[in-house]
Amino acid sequence: MAQDDCLFCQIVAGEAPATIVDSDEATVAFMDINPATRGHTLVVPRAHYADLAEIPDDELATCVQAARRLAERAVERLEADGVNLLNAQGRAAWQTVFHFHFHVIPRYEGDPLRLPWTPGPGDPDEIAGAAARLRDE
Ligand code: AMP
Ligand code: ZN
Repeated sequence: MAQDDCLFCQIVAGEAPATIVDSDEATVAFMDINPATRGHTLVVPRAHYADLAEIPDDELATCVQAARRLAERAVERLEADGVNLLNAQGRAAWQTVFHFHFHVIPRYEGDPLRLPWTPGPGDPDEIAGAAARLRDE
């Protein structure tokens, strides 16, 4: 199931270097080499799925559990004040490695990390229109 040219498959297989911090039967977690904050890790399934659209529900659930484990450790052991879980699906969403992964980003009061939008009031009609499209039929 590994994809030869996939960096994260190579990390899972032990063929590319990584600082692994956690693993179980279905997932591996390792340090991000370009950390957004101290303790930034990535959780990946051992099997190769390109993105959120491809990963099966049960594997996704296992990745969520692994991500929560890492989030708990960030709070307990790194004294993080909070944690952001992030997934990028597709180039437009800044996905650069096409092997599904969760970013587990510890947050610290006053840290300089800013998500790239400034929350402000939305247009009520636009919100309602998007909601109508997102609701189950
Ligand atoms: P994304 O943009 O969501 O696809 O995230 C890919 C992440 O992988 C980025 O945050 C990179 O810093 C990280 N990354 C790329 N190569 C490596 C590597 N060899 N070891 C650890 N993290 C990596
Ligand atoms: Zn892969």
